Amino acid sequence: MGESLIQKKQGTDQEIIDVHCHCFAGLGQAERVSRGLAQLRKEGVSHMAVMGLVNTSLNAQEVWKLIPEGFENLGDPLFNEADNLLQFAQQNGSMLFPMLDTRMLNGEVQSFLHKHLLRGFRGIKGLYLADEGNDLGLSSVPSTFGISLKQYHQREWKIFAFAEANDLPVLYHMDANRYGEVMQGILDDFPRLRINFPHFGIGRKAFRKILDRYPNVSTDIAFMLPHIQNNPESYSDFISHYQDQVCFGSDALIYQPEVVLEYIELVRSMKLSEEIEKKVFSENPRRFLGLGRCSEQADLK
Ligand SMILES: [Zn+2]
Repeated sequence: MGESLIQKKQGTDQEIIDVHCHCFAGLGQAERVSRGLAQLRKEGVSHMAVMGLVNTSLNAQEVWKLIPEGFENLGDPLFNEADNLLQFAQQNGSMLFPMLDTRMLNGEVQSFLHKHLLRGFRGIKGLYLADEGNDLGLSSVPSTFGISLKQYHQREWKIFAFAEANDLPVLYHMDANRYGEVMQGILDDFPRLRINFPHFGIGRKAFRKILDRYPNVSTDIAFMLPHIQNNPESYSDFISHYQDQVCFGSDALIYQPEVVLEYIELVRSMKLSEEIEKKVFSENPRRFLGLGRCSEQADLK
């Protein structure tokens, strides 16, 4: 059923960029990953931003307290994914856009990020875990590392400062309802930061204020499939209203092309105008990731 919709649209050569995927795979899955990416390329997916975790100090038991349930990790059991993700990126042309997941960063920020930037990372991922009341039910970063909330904020602010100074996109999971004031603090302190608060900022009601006040803020539809399917008209109105800020994203793991295809179909099923669909699939992701105009598509093979 998914295929017919996708094939029908193929003639339009719509470029699709997924701004929100995760790694969770190791080199043992290299072939499976390449096969999946080739399949997606045929469907028009030109780029996928993939988050790769680093873990410099946590043991297996601690690490899982910072990872949401329901994602099967086929890669490094301690979630040191940087090397594997960079390998995948090398093996698959220009398709992958590696972003460093900083949630478990412990110690010096600037030099650590700089080192990874030189190695090939092109953006940053974060997850705001200030306390146990976060929407994912994960442990907090302060309790995990034995630091104060103030020290945690200092760490995050250094990450934002680095991203802004180096013009890197930041994908930052954060609940606008619970942490709206901190969110505004970030945006006021880093006005030039290219930032995406995914999943419609977790709750659309609180997040509207952010989108209205900060037109440079992006968001994405990753993990929203059940919500959108339950209430397609409301979400299609929302996306149309914020048509310059909503990006395509799937939360797929790098070895799950079927999830990306499901999300492509989801967007097409919403019957957005052609212009808005193009913004969501391609123009907004390009602006967020800093990929330049569509004319620069020689690298899309
Ligand atoms: Zn995600």
